Amino acid sequence: MIGIATTMDTQAKLATLSADGQFDLACACGTSADDRRRRAPERDRWIYPVTLPNGGRSVLFKTLITNACANDCRYCPLRARNDTRRCTLTAEETVASFLNYWRAGRVFGLFLSGGVLGTPDRTMQRLNDVARILRRREGFRGYIHLKIIPGASDAAVREAVSLSSAVSINIETAGEKHFRTLSSRKNYLDDVIRPMRLISRLTSPGTRYSRVRQTTQFVVGASDETDRELVKYMGGLYDRLGLSRVYFSAYQKGAGDPGLPGERPEVSGADLLLREHRLYQTDWLIRRYGFRADEIPFDETGHLATDADPKEHWARLHPERFPIDINRAGREELLRVPGLGPVVVKRILKLRGETGRLRRFEDIGRFGKRLSKAADYVVFG
Ligand code: SF4
Repeated sequence: MIGIATTMDTQAKLATLSADGQFDLACACGTSADDRRRRAPERDRWIYPVTLPNGGRSVLFKTLITNACANDCRYCPLRARNDTRRCTLTAEETVASFLNYWRAGRVFGLFLSGGVLGTPDRTMQRLNDVARILRRREGFRGYIHLKIIPGASDAAVREAVSLSSAVSINIETAGEKHFRTLSSRKNYLDDVIRPMRLISRLTSPGTRYSRVRQTTQFVVGASDETDRELVKYMGGLYDRLGLSRVYFSAYQKGAGDPGLPGERPEVSGADLLLREHRLYQTDWLIRRYGFRADEIPFDETGHLATDADPKEHWARLHPERFPIDINRAGREELLRVPGLGPVVVKRILKLRGETGRLRRFEDIGRFGKRLSKAADYVVFG
């Protein structure tokens, strides 16, 4: 039986490791303020809102198991040659700390990641040990998200999938060319794409682990990748590898090597955050609004527009599609209208069914900022 109290030493390690894990978003993030990570009251942990399958909200216990790393990713504050305080949790410390929070009802699941402790498989073994102890010895049946360490063997990946509710391996950037500029020790195809493909096969519909979700994350702006490249890769990850979610994390200025594109003085942290935001809006268009990746418009530099959200930008470039008749258009057409999201479209269709005909925006709801955006694109025929 595991005691719920943890030593001060473990708490000190958790403080360091949970703060170091803050920029890995491959478990939860969104486009609204409510979906964003926030600090736990103890200040040593981040709490990540997660949308539960039943629609409720709860939080994950999220930490690295180690901030030591044998790799040298140029954008990462944990890269091997960086002078930072390193520490590692044992599997038992991690289990005890998690159960402490879980039994108190403060978290519903675990997100466990880590740097590369010696070799990828040695690290995977420790991550898998935590999940195995929780599942087999402690009888924990809840949510476990394990990070797959780049370069992990097929056997280690298989075990992680068998123990997890979700797994992720971070793709980091749009393709091999950019990847090579960011890391000299990781191999894009063998260390990242190979395990991603294996997970995709293991979790495909109809297989034993089809309930296990796979997600990934891009770092935005560490290389000189364009949004066009990122969106193309994102489309491929959804279409060909069946990923559940793709996350974006703006490069953190000051965290990486000098000379990275995100470190250039003309690129501000706010610029990178706006790119991250536009990429999330694009992700929603693809996952929720029926857009294909090759329909997303970019400016002449290959980036998403900064002065308009991607749907508005698309609508401005397609005047032949508008105005549409709000009383006749189908769901897919309505979802293309700037300012109309899935919830409002559902309401329009329901009201149309009940009342026969809508006459003005006020019939749908309050004519606020979002609905007023739709005014240029619809008629009440
Ligand atoms: S492998 Fe992960 S932890 Fe290690 S340097 Fe690269 S990004 Fe950082």
